[in-house]
Amino acid sequence: MSEATRHAAAYDAVVIGGGVMGCATALHLAEGGMRVAVVDRGPLCREASGVNAGTLTLHMTRAALVPYAMRAWQMWMDAERWLGMGVLATHVPGLTLAFTEAECELVELRAKARRAYGAPIEVITPERAREIEPGLHSGLLKAGYCEIDGFASAYLTGRAFRHALTHAGVEVLENAPVAAIDSGDAGHVIRLDAAAGRAPLHAKRVVLAGGVWIQNMLAWLGVQIPIKVLINQLIITERIRPVMRTVLSVASGLLSLKQFANGTVLIGGGWQGDGDRERGGVEARPQNLVGNVRLAAYAVPALAEARIARIWLGLEAETADAMPIIGDVPGVPQAYVIGSAHSGYTSGPFMGRIMAQHILGQEPDLPLFDPARLLGMPMPGA
Ligand SMILES: Cc1cc2nc3c(=O)[nH]c(=O)nc-3n(C[C@H](O)[C@H](O)[C@H](O)COP(=O)(O)OP(=O)(O)OC[C@H]3O[C@@H](n4cnc5c(N)ncnc54)[C@H](O)[C@@H]3O)c2cc1C
Repeated sequence: MSEATRHAAAYDAVVIGGGVMGCATALHLAEGGMRVAVVDRGPLCREASGVNAGTLTLHMTRAALVPYAMRAWQMWMDAERWLGMGVLATHVPGLTLAFTEAECELVELRAKARRAYGAPIEVITPERAREIEPGLHSGLLKAGYCEIDGFASAYLTGRAFRHALTHAGVEVLENAPVAAIDSGDAGHVIRLDAAAGRAPLHAKRVVLAGGVWIQNMLAWLGVQIPIKVLINQLIITERIRPVMRTVLSVASGLLSLKQFANGTVLIGGGWQGDGDRERGGVEARPQNLVGNVRLAAYAVPALAEARIARIWLGLEAETADAMPIIGDVPGVPQAYVIGSAHSGYTSGPFMGRIMAQHILGQEPDLPLFDPARLLGMPMPGA
Protein backbone atom coordinates (compact mmCIF):
# COMPACT_ATOMS: atom_id res chain seq x y z
CA MET A 1 0.00 0.00 0.00
CA SER A 2 1.41 3.42 -0.92
CA GLU A 3 1.98 6.05 1.74
CA ALA A 4 -0.82 8.22 0.24
CA THR A 5 -3.35 5.37 0.23
CA ARG A 6 -2.40 4.53 3.76
CA HIS A 7 -3.03 8.03 4.95
CA ALA A 8 -6.32 8.19 3.09
CA ALA A 9 -7.36 5.15 5.14
CA ALA A 10 -6.22 6.66 8.44
CA TYR A 11 -8.65 6.96 11.32
CA ASP A 12 -9.21 10.03 13.43
CA ALA A 13 -9.12 7.67 16.41
CA VAL A 14 -8.50 3.99 17.05
CA VAL A 15 -9.79 2.63 20.36
CA ILE A 16 -7.92 -0.45 21.58
CA GLY A 17 -10.12 -2.59 23.81
CA GLY A 18 -13.80 -3.15 23.15
CA GLY A 19 -15.20 -3.30 26.67
CA VAL A 20 -17.82 -0.86 27.91
CA MET A 21 -15.24 1.93 28.31
CA GLY A 22 -13.78 1.55 24.82
CA CYS A 23 -17.11 1.00 23.07
CA ALA A 24 -18.74 3.99 24.78
CA THR A 25 -15.77 6.20 23.93
CA ALA A 26 -15.78 5.07 20.28
CA LEU A 27 -19.50 5.62 19.91
CA HIS A 28 -19.38 9.16 21.28
CA LEU A 29 -16.33 10.00 19.14
CA ALA A 30 -18.16 8.80 16.03
CA GLU A 31 -21.23 10.79 17.00
CA GLY A 32 -18.89 13.79 17.35
CA GLY A 33 -17.93 13.38 13.70
CA MET A 34 -14.72 11.35 13.90
CA ARG A 35 -13.75 8.37 11.77
CA VAL A 36 -13.23 5.66 14.37
CA ALA A 37 -12.25 2.00 14.71
CA VAL A 38 -12.51 -0.23 17.78
CA VAL A 39 -10.09 -3.13 17.94
CA ASP A 40 -10.43 -6.03 20.36
CA ARG A 41 -8.40 -9.18 20.65
CA GLY A 42 -11.65 -11.11 21.16
CA PRO A 43 -15.32 -10.32 20.61
CA LEU A 44 -16.65 -7.03 22.00
CA CYS A 45 -17.43 -7.00 25.73
CA ARG A 46 -16.44 -10.56 26.53
CA GLU A 47 -14.06 -9.69 29.38
CA ALA A 48 -15.14 -7.71 32.46
CA SER A 49 -17.83 -5.86 30.53
CA GLY A 50 -19.64 -9.05 29.56
CA VAL A 51 -19.12 -11.25 32.60
CA ASN A 52 -19.76 -8.81 35.44
CA ALA A 53 -22.68 -8.95 37.86
CA GLY A 54 -24.56 -6.19 36.04
CA THR A 55 -25.42 -4.22 39.18
CA LEU A 56 -26.19 -0.59 38.32
CA THR A 57 -25.58 0.84 41.72
CA LEU A 58 -24.79 3.92 43.78
CA HIS A 59 -24.44 1.96 47.04
CA MET A 60 -21.34 0.10 45.85
CA THR A 61 -19.82 2.96 43.85
CA ARG A 62 -17.12 5.04 45.51
CA ALA A 63 -18.65 8.21 46.95
CA ALA A 64 -16.73 10.57 44.65
CA LEU A 65 -17.95 8.61 41.63
CA VAL A 66 -21.64 8.92 42.53
CA PRO A 67 -22.28 11.89 40.18
CA TYR A 68 -20.78 9.87 37.32
CA ALA A 69 -22.73 6.74 38.24
CA MET A 70 -26.04 8.65 38.48
CA ARG A 71 -25.66 9.96 34.93
CA ALA A 72 -24.58 6.56 33.66
CA TRP A 73 -27.44 4.80 35.45
CA GLN A 74 -29.87 6.94 33.45
CA MET A 75 -27.99 6.10 30.25
CA TRP A 76 -28.34 2.36 30.93
CA MET A 77 -32.03 2.76 31.65
CA ASP A 78 -32.36 4.57 28.29
CA ALA A 79 -30.08 2.13 26.41
CA GLU A 80 -32.66 1.34 23.72
CA ARG A 81 -32.69 5.01 22.78
CA TRP A 82 -28.95 5.64 22.38
CA LEU A 83 -27.71 2.10 21.62
CA GLY A 84 -30.76 1.08 19.62
CA MET A 85 -30.82 -2.14 21.62
CA GLY A 86 -31.12 -2.72 25.36
CA VAL A 87 -29.28 -4.78 27.97
CA LEU A 88 -32.41 -5.61 29.99
CA ALA A 89 -31.64 -2.75 32.39
CA THR A 90 -34.12 -3.08 35.23
CA HIS A 91 -34.91 -0.40 37.78
CA VAL A 92 -35.35 -1.75 41.29
CA PRO A 93 -34.32 -0.16 44.61
CA GLY A 94 -31.12 -1.15 46.38
CA LEU A 95 -30.61 -2.05 50.04
CA THR A 96 -27.32 -2.22 51.92
CA LEU A 97 -27.78 -4.47 54.92
CA ALA A 98 -26.29 -4.28 58.42
CA PHE A 99 -26.36 -7.35 60.66
CA THR A 100 -23.75 -6.22 63.22
CA GLU A 101 -23.11 -2.99 65.13
CA ALA A 102 -19.98 -2.40 63.04
CA GLU A 103 -22.05 -2.76 59.86
CA CYS A 104 -24.66 -0.32 61.25
CA GLU A 105 -21.92 2.27 61.61
CA LEU A 106 -20.74 1.54 58.10
CA VAL A 107 -24.24 1.90 56.67
CA GLU A 108 -24.53 5.34 58.31
CA LEU A 109 -21.08 6.44 57.15
CA ARG A 110 -21.48 5.19 53.60
CA ALA A 111 -24.93 6.73 53.24
CA LYS A 112 -23.66 10.08 54.51
CA ALA A 113 -20.63 10.05 52.22
CA ARG A 114 -22.74 9.21 49.16
CA ARG A 115 -25.49 11.68 50.06
CA ALA A 116 -22.82 14.39 50.06
CA TYR A 117 -22.29 13.57 46.37
CA GLY A 118 -26.00 13.56 45.55
CA ALA A 119 -27.04 9.92 46.02
CA PRO A 120 -30.58 9.67 47.44
CA ILE A 121 -29.61 7.14 50.12
CA GLU A 122 -31.43 7.07 53.46
CA VAL A 123 -30.95 4.82 56.45
CA ILE A 124 -34.08 2.84 57.32
CA THR A 125 -35.26 0.54 60.10
CA PRO A 126 -35.32 -3.27 59.71
CA GLU A 127 -39.13 -3.13 59.71
CA ARG A 128 -39.19 -0.72 56.78
CA ALA A 129 -36.52 -2.77 54.99
CA ARG A 130 -38.66 -5.91 55.34
CA GLU A 131 -41.68 -4.08 53.94
CA ILE A 132 -39.57 -3.38 50.85
CA GLU A 133 -37.89 -6.80 50.79
CA PRO A 134 -39.96 -9.30 52.84
CA GLY A 135 -37.50 -12.18 52.53
CA LEU A 136 -34.71 -10.58 54.58
CA HIS A 137 -33.21 -12.35 57.60
CA SER A 138 -34.77 -11.48 60.96
CA GLY A 139 -31.34 -10.49 62.34
CA LEU A 140 -31.26 -7.33 60.23
CA LEU A 141 -30.42 -4.26 62.35
CA LYS A 142 -30.50 -1.44 59.81
CA ALA A 143 -30.33 -0.83 56.07
CA GLY A 144 -29.29 1.84 53.62
CA TYR A 145 -32.01 2.40 51.01
CA CYS A 146 -31.49 3.88 47.56
CA GLU A 147 -34.30 4.31 45.07
CA ILE A 148 -31.81 4.55 42.19
CA ASP A 149 -30.43 1.05 41.74
CA GLY A 150 -30.98 -1.88 39.46
CA PHE A 151 -29.26 -4.34 37.20
CA ALA A 152 -28.63 -5.28 33.60
CA SER A 153 -27.77 -8.54 31.85
CA ALA A 154 -24.11 -7.90 31.16
CA TYR A 155 -23.79 -10.64 28.53
CA LEU A 156 -25.99 -8.50 26.23
CA THR A 157 -23.58 -5.55 26.35
CA GLY A 158 -21.43 -6.60 23.38
CA ARG A 159 -24.43 -7.24 21.17
CA ALA A 160 -25.94 -3.84 22.00
CA PHE A 161 -22.68 -1.93 21.42
CA ARG A 162 -21.90 -3.83 18.20
CA HIS A 163 -25.29 -2.74 16.90
CA ALA A 164 -24.79 0.88 17.94
CA LEU A 165 -21.20 1.14 16.72
CA THR A 166 -21.96 -0.34 13.34
CA HIS A 167 -24.96 1.95 12.99
CA ALA A 168 -22.74 4.96 13.83
CA GLY A 169 -20.21 3.96 11.15
CA VAL A 170 -17.50 2.76 13.55
CA GLU A 171 -15.30 0.02 12.14
CA VAL A 172 -15.37 -2.89 14.59
CA LEU A 173 -12.37 -5.22 14.40
CA GLU A 174 -12.87 -8.27 16.60
CA ASN A 175 -10.46 -11.16 17.19
CA ALA A 176 -7.65 -8.77 16.30
CA PRO A 177 -5.09 -8.56 19.14
CA VAL A 178 -2.92 -5.45 19.08
CA ALA A 179 0.76 -6.24 19.62
CA ALA A 180 2.38 -2.80 19.65
CA ILE A 181 1.97 0.89 18.85
CA ASP A 182 4.56 3.07 17.12
CA SER A 183 3.91 6.70 17.92
CA GLY A 184 5.40 9.68 16.13
CA ASP A 185 4.65 13.25 15.12
CA ALA A 186 2.31 12.08 12.34
CA GLY A 187 0.22 9.91 14.64
CA HIS A 188 0.14 6.28 15.66
CA VAL A 189 0.71 3.01 13.81
CA ILE A 190 -1.19 0.21 15.55
CA ARG A 191 0.40 -3.15 14.84
CA LEU A 192 -1.79 -6.20 15.12
CA ASP A 193 -0.62 -9.62 16.17
CA ALA A 194 0.70 -11.59 13.18
CA ALA A 195 -2.03 -14.20 13.75
CA ALA A 196 -4.68 -11.57 12.92
CA GLY A 197 -3.25 -11.40 9.39
CA ARG A 198 -4.09 -7.72 9.05
CA ALA A 199 -2.14 -4.65 8.01
CA PRO A 200 -1.31 -2.05 10.67
CA LEU A 201 -3.88 0.65 11.39
CA HIS A 202 -2.97 4.32 11.12
CA ALA A 203 -4.61 6.80 13.43
CA LYS A 204 -4.24 10.42 14.48
CA ARG A 205 -5.30 9.48 17.99
CA VAL A 206 -5.22 6.30 20.00
CA VAL A 207 -7.36 5.43 23.02
CA LEU A 208 -6.20 2.65 25.35
CA ALA A 209 -9.26 0.97 26.87
CA GLY A 210 -7.85 -2.42 27.77
CA GLY A 211 -9.31 -3.11 31.23
CA VAL A 212 -6.66 -4.87 33.33
CA TRP A 213 -4.43 -4.92 30.23
CA ILE A 214 -4.10 -1.12 30.22
CA GLN A 215 -0.83 -1.65 32.07
CA ASN A 216 0.61 -3.55 29.07
CA MET A 217 -0.85 -1.06 26.58
CA LEU A 218 0.72 1.91 28.39
CA ALA A 219 4.04 0.04 28.35
CA TRP A 220 3.83 -0.04 24.51
CA LEU A 221 4.04 3.76 24.73
CA GLY A 222 6.86 3.64 27.29
CA VAL A 223 4.62 4.65 30.21
CA GLN A 224 4.76 2.67 33.47
CA ILE A 225 1.57 2.78 35.53
CA PRO A 226 0.66 -0.20 37.72
CA ILE A 227 -2.86 -1.62 37.40
CA LYS A 228 -3.89 -4.14 40.03
CA VAL A 229 -5.90 -7.20 38.93
CA LEU A 230 -8.86 -8.47 40.96
CA ILE A 231 -10.11 -11.99 40.12
CA ASN A 232 -13.79 -11.76 41.01
CA GLN A 233 -15.89 -14.89 41.43
CA LEU A 234 -19.57 -14.96 40.53
CA ILE A 235 -22.22 -17.59 41.22
CA ILE A 236 -25.58 -18.10 39.52
CA THR A 237 -28.28 -20.35 40.90
CA GLU A 238 -30.82 -22.45 39.07
CA ARG A 239 -34.21 -20.82 38.48
CA ILE A 240 -36.19 -20.60 41.70
CA ARG A 241 -39.48 -19.04 42.77
CA PRO A 242 -39.36 -15.27 43.36
CA VAL A 243 -37.45 -14.76 46.63
CA MET A 244 -36.31 -11.14 46.30
CA ARG A 245 -37.11 -8.01 44.31
CA THR A 246 -34.32 -5.52 45.12
CA VAL A 247 -30.55 -5.39 44.67
CA LEU A 248 -28.96 -6.35 47.98
CA SER A 249 -25.50 -5.73 49.35
CA VAL A 250 -24.03 -5.88 52.84
CA ALA A 251 -22.32 -2.92 54.44
CA SER A 252 -19.03 -4.79 54.82
CA GLY A 253 -18.98 -5.04 51.02
CA LEU A 254 -18.80 -8.81 50.58
CA LEU A 255 -22.19 -9.51 49.05
CA SER A 256 -24.20 -8.47 46.06
CA LEU A 257 -27.44 -10.24 45.22
CA LYS A 258 -30.22 -9.92 42.69
CA GLN A 259 -32.85 -12.17 41.13
CA PHE A 260 -33.38 -11.95 37.39
CA ALA A 261 -36.80 -12.20 35.74
CA ASN A 262 -36.04 -15.81 34.72
CA GLY A 263 -35.74 -16.79 38.40
CA THR A 264 -31.96 -17.21 38.62
CA VAL A 265 -30.15 -15.43 41.46
CA LEU A 266 -26.72 -13.91 40.87
CA ILE A 267 -24.47 -14.01 43.93
CA GLY A 268 -21.29 -11.94 44.04
CA GLY A 269 -19.60 -9.29 46.10
CA GLY A 270 -15.95 -9.42 45.16
CA TRP A 271 -14.89 -12.78 46.61
CA GLN A 272 -11.59 -13.65 44.95
CA GLY A 273 -10.49 -16.61 42.83
CA ASP A 274 -7.09 -17.47 41.34
CA GLY A 275 -5.60 -16.13 38.15
CA ASP A 276 -3.65 -13.20 36.77
CA ARG A 277 -3.38 -10.78 33.86
CA GLU A 278 -1.50 -13.29 31.68
CA ARG A 279 -3.65 -16.38 32.21
CA GLY A 280 -6.98 -14.77 33.06
CA GLY A 281 -9.22 -16.36 35.69
CA VAL A 282 -7.79 -19.82 36.32
CA GLU A 283 -9.59 -21.40 39.26
CA ALA A 284 -12.31 -20.58 41.76
CA ARG A 285 -11.46 -20.80 45.45
CA PRO A 286 -13.94 -23.26 47.01
CA GLN A 287 -13.72 -21.67 50.47
CA ASN A 288 -14.66 -18.30 48.94
CA LEU A 289 -17.60 -19.83 47.11
CA VAL A 290 -18.81 -21.32 50.39
CA GLY A 291 -18.35 -18.00 52.21
CA ASN A 292 -20.22 -16.09 49.50
CA VAL A 293 -23.13 -18.56 49.38
CA ARG A 294 -23.41 -18.69 53.18
CA LEU A 295 -23.61 -14.93 53.40
CA ALA A 296 -26.25 -14.85 50.64
CA ALA A 297 -28.37 -17.50 52.38
CA TYR A 298 -27.99 -15.60 55.65
CA ALA A 299 -29.25 -12.36 54.11
CA VAL A 300 -32.15 -14.05 52.27
CA PRO A 301 -32.86 -17.40 54.01
CA ALA A 302 -35.00 -18.69 51.11
CA LEU A 303 -31.80 -18.93 49.08
CA ALA A 304 -30.83 -21.99 51.10
CA GLU A 305 -33.14 -23.98 48.81
CA ALA A 306 -31.34 -22.86 45.62
CA ARG A 307 -28.74 -25.01 43.89
CA ILE A 308 -25.75 -23.45 42.16
CA ALA A 309 -25.98 -23.73 38.37
CA ARG A 310 -22.64 -22.19 37.37
CA ILE A 311 -19.70 -20.19 38.64
CA TRP A 312 -17.24 -18.04 36.71
CA LEU A 313 -14.38 -15.61 37.13
CA GLY A 314 -13.75 -12.16 35.68
CA LEU A 315 -10.86 -9.71 35.85
CA GLU A 316 -11.38 -6.24 37.30
CA ALA A 317 -8.81 -3.44 37.16
CA GLU A 318 -7.85 -1.12 40.01
CA THR A 319 -5.35 1.75 40.18
CA ALA A 320 -3.10 2.44 43.17
CA ASP A 321 -5.58 5.01 44.56
CA ALA A 322 -8.66 3.00 43.47
CA MET A 323 -9.89 5.91 41.34
CA PRO A 324 -10.33 5.74 37.56
CA ILE A 325 -7.63 6.52 35.03
CA ILE A 326 -9.26 8.67 32.36
CA GLY A 327 -7.35 11.28 30.39
CA ASP A 328 -4.17 11.98 28.42
CA VAL A 329 -1.37 9.41 28.39
CA PRO A 330 1.45 11.39 30.05
CA GLY A 331 4.11 12.52 27.59
CA VAL A 332 2.52 10.97 24.48
CA PRO A 333 0.62 13.44 22.29
CA GLN A 334 -2.79 12.35 21.01
CA ALA A 335 -2.87 9.24 23.19
CA TYR A 336 -5.57 8.67 25.81
CA VAL A 337 -6.40 6.04 28.39
CA ILE A 338 -9.68 5.07 30.04
CA GLY A 339 -10.45 2.41 32.62
CA SER A 340 -10.16 1.15 36.21
CA ALA A 341 -13.37 2.75 37.44
CA HIS A 342 -14.76 1.13 40.56
CA SER A 343 -18.22 -0.25 39.65
CA GLY A 344 -17.10 0.47 36.11
CA TYR A 345 -19.98 -1.28 34.42
CA THR A 346 -22.39 1.15 36.08
CA SER A 347 -20.41 4.25 35.15
CA GLY A 348 -18.95 3.01 31.81
CA PRO A 349 -21.33 4.72 29.38
CA PHE A 350 -20.82 8.11 31.01
CA MET A 351 -17.05 7.66 31.41
CA GLY A 352 -16.84 6.97 27.68
CA ARG A 353 -18.84 10.11 26.99
CA ILE A 354 -16.52 12.39 29.01
CA MET A 355 -13.43 10.77 27.49
CA ALA A 356 -14.86 11.47 24.02
CA GLN A 357 -15.82 15.03 24.93
CA HIS A 358 -12.22 15.70 25.99
CA ILE A 359 -10.81 14.18 22.78
CA LEU A 360 -13.28 16.20 20.70
CA GLY A 361 -12.02 19.38 22.37
CA GLN A 362 -15.22 19.93 24.35
CA GLU A 363 -15.51 20.60 28.07
CA PRO A 364 -16.36 17.23 29.70
CA ASP A 365 -19.67 17.18 31.62
CA LEU A 366 -17.66 16.18 34.73
CA PRO A 367 -13.89 16.21 35.37
CA LEU A 368 -11.59 13.44 34.08
CA PHE A 369 -9.13 11.49 36.27
CA ASP A 370 -5.61 12.56 35.32
CA PRO A 371 -3.38 9.53 34.61
CA ALA A 372 -0.24 11.56 35.42
CA ARG A 373 -1.04 11.30 39.15
CA LEU A 374 -0.24 7.57 38.94
CA LEU A 375 3.27 7.96 37.51
CA GLY A 376 6.02 6.79 39.82
CA MET A 377 3.85 4.25 41.66
CA PRO A 378 5.79 0.99 42.16
CA MET A 379 5.21 -1.54 39.39
CA PRO A 380 4.33 -5.17 40.31
CA GLY A 381 7.48 -7.20 40.84
CA ALA A 382 9.62 -4.02 40.97
C1 LIG B 1 -16.77 -10.57 37.92
C2 LIG B 1 -16.96 -9.07 37.90
C3 LIG B 1 -18.11 -8.50 38.43
C4 LIG B 1 -18.33 -7.14 38.37
N1 LIG B 1 -19.53 -6.64 38.77
C5 LIG B 1 -19.83 -5.35 38.53
C6 LIG B 1 -21.12 -4.85 38.82
O1 LIG B 1 -22.01 -5.60 39.25
N2 LIG B 1 -21.38 -3.54 38.59
C7 LIG B 1 -20.43 -2.69 38.11
O2 LIG B 1 -20.72 -1.51 37.95
N3 LIG B 1 -19.18 -3.14 37.80
C8 LIG B 1 -18.87 -4.44 37.98
N4 LIG B 1 -17.63 -4.92 37.65
C9 LIG B 1 -16.64 -4.00 37.08
C10 LIG B 1 -16.88 -3.79 35.58
O3 LIG B 1 -17.20 -5.00 34.94
C11 LIG B 1 -15.63 -3.18 34.94
O4 LIG B 1 -15.23 -2.03 35.66
C12 LIG B 1 -15.85 -2.76 33.49
O5 LIG B 1 -16.54 -3.73 32.74
C13 LIG B 1 -14.49 -2.49 32.84
O6 LIG B 1 -14.67 -2.18 31.48
P1 LIG B 1 -13.41 -1.94 30.56
O7 LIG B 1 -13.94 -1.62 29.23
O8 LIG B 1 -12.47 -0.99 31.22
O9 LIG B 1 -12.61 -3.37 30.56
P2 LIG B 1 -12.92 -4.75 29.83
O10 LIG B 1 -14.35 -5.02 29.75
O11 LIG B 1 -12.05 -5.76 30.50
O12 LIG B 1 -12.42 -4.51 28.35
C14 LIG B 1 -11.07 -4.49 27.99
C15 LIG B 1 -10.96 -5.06 26.60
O13 LIG B 1 -9.60 -4.94 26.15
C16 LIG B 1 -9.36 -6.02 25.28
N5 LIG B 1 -7.92 -6.20 25.09
C17 LIG B 1 -7.01 -6.56 26.02
N6 LIG B 1 -5.80 -6.65 25.45
C18 LIG B 1 -5.96 -6.37 24.12
C19 LIG B 1 -5.07 -6.30 23.02
N7 LIG B 1 -3.77 -6.58 23.13
N8 LIG B 1 -5.58 -5.97 21.81
C20 LIG B 1 -6.89 -5.69 21.65
N9 LIG B 1 -7.78 -5.74 22.68
C21 LIG B 1 -7.31 -6.06 23.90
C22 LIG B 1 -10.02 -7.19 26.01
O14 LIG B 1 -10.25 -8.29 25.14
C23 LIG B 1 -11.30 -6.55 26.55
O15 LIG B 1 -12.42 -6.77 25.71
C24 LIG B 1 -17.35 -6.29 37.77
C25 LIG B 1 -16.16 -6.84 37.26
C26 LIG B 1 -15.98 -8.22 37.31
C27 LIG B 1 -14.72 -8.79 36.70
